[in-house]
Amino acid sequence: MPATLRAICADITTLSVDAIVNAANNTLLGGGGVDGAIHRAAGPELLAYCHTLNGCATGEAKITPGFRLPARHVIHTVGPVWRDGKHGEPALLAACYRHALKLAAQSGLETIAFPCISTGVYGYPPDLAAPCALRAVREELARLPSIREVIFCCFSEEERTRYESLCEIFLA
Ligand code: ADP
Repeated sequence: MPATLRAICADITTLSVDAIVNAANNTLLGGGGVDGAIHRAAGPELLAYCHTLNGCATGEAKITPGFRLPARHVIHTVGPVWRDGKHGEPALLAACYRHALKLAAQSGLETIAFPCISTGVYGYPPDLAAPCALRAVREELARLPSIREVIFCCFSEEERTRYESLCEIFLA
């Protein structure tokens, strides 16, 4: 059975999935946006655990427990800071999605929710980030049959509509 892809508009910290993905920074020691929300909801145990991880390179991913979150795990990845699109940003953004999915599959997880990585403080234009994310997920899922469901957890109705139409195009 191919994985289900869906787009929803929600606070990612409320989702009961095997893993939510965090758009973290290189230190993994917390920040604003979705990172701050995840740390607040997971509790101080998450920050303590992250202190043992030695940070994370841009485009890579690391896994932690979800602690007080309804999600069982958090997969932390670090998106690229947008400059002009000519500094490897698309490849790095795609790598975030691919590495997070790979890590989920290696950890035996089947359901995963992504925020719109890099499109907040890191400034990646949302209309460019969405097709890049969709393409990377679709390509990686072809190699990872154990993943059952991927949720694009958008934070605005506009973003959700964008992902929904792209899902239809990409899955047609
Ligand atoms: P980055 O530094 O990678 O740009 P941000 O956290 O600033 O990360 O933003 C990434 C995306 O996450 C943005 O689209 C933002 O609107 C969204 N976002 C912020 N808080 C949440 C949340 N609680 N749940 C889901 N998405 C969120």
